[in-house]
Amino acid sequence: MKDFPGDTASAEHGWLKAHKWLLLRRFSQIGVLALFLAGPLAGVWIVTGNLSASMTLGVLPLTDPLLLAQSMLSGAWPVLSGAIGALIVLVFYALVGGRVFCSWVCPVNLVTDLAAWLGRRFDIRAAGRLSRDLRYWILALVLFFPLVTGVIVWEYLNPVSMAHRGLIFGLGWAWTILVAVLLYDLLIVRRGWCGHLCPVGAFYSLVGMRAAVRVSAEGRSRCDDCTDCFHICPEPQVIKPALKGAARGRGPIITDLNCTNCGRCIDVCSKRVFRFRMGDRRPIEVPVELPDAQSHRVRTHPFS
Ligand code: SF4
Ligand code: SF4
Repeated sequence: MKDFPGDTASAEHGWLKAHKWLLLRRFSQIGVLALFLAGPLAGVWIVTGNLSASMTLGVLPLTDPLLLAQSMLSGAWPVLSGAIGALIVLVFYALVGGRVFCSWVCPVNLVTDLAAWLGRRFDIRAAGRLSRDLRYWILALVLFFPLVTGVIVWEYLNPVSMAHRGLIFGLGWAWTILVAVLLYDLLIVRRGWCGHLCPVGAFYSLVGMRAAVRVSAEGRSRCDDCTDCFHICPEPQVIKPALKGAARGRGPIITDLNCTNCGRCIDVCSKRVFRFRMGDRRPIEVPVELPDAQSHRVRTHPFS
């Protein structure tokens, strides 16, 4: 039977360890939704609002900074709590990685991950090709339209806020958007929405440009080229420079803006090559724990 990414890691380290970060992410995504749903469904108002603008426990405002930017470009000045909420969100994602929003919070990620899983399980190959830079051009348009029209055009189309509002207030027509994203990712372009088109992801990738939390391929000398990490990663182009760049003096930290810090490369690698770490630049000693070997220590290269 054909091996899937993570099968070897599951066999060698156990299913739970090979899905640790995936389970934590699902817990986070569903937990965020549950917090928003607890009010309308059960009358427990911990959080009010939605992903565009919310208030937690009556004291913590959180605002979508991309929405705020569009609103300001359209000529509307934000209220103080809205501006503070956007600042809090910006600082948080600037530290932990902008695209953490995509993999740990965004409800559309559940749909795009499902499309990727279905594609792998049933060997459906979406053969379409698009530039991954297209999302930055779309982001530029998203910001340009309010400037010239005075209307926040993107919010009429944004699957992220439509899906979230739909899940909280009743799906209505939002389900058609989600099905369209699923079919597009499954049949037309692999990881087509998040990895190529979504301006929200593009925006957050820029926010996390100097993030402190990074994935590091610091056990890269143990890599056996099984390619599981490349097959599971939603942005596989981010891995190679860190994993294979030692000969060119590249450090093991994945510095590409579009790594989503999803942790799936950590899960599926049976050689335990990857781990999360704070993005400091000191040389490091890495303890190695493999099931059939005694623990030993390997010195990695200083980060470039
Ligand atoms: S780092 Fe190497 S061993 Fe680990 S999953 Fe990727 S290709 Fe396989
Ligand atoms: S490199 Fe790892 S953490 Fe980053 S997006 Fe790919 S699988 Fe996720």
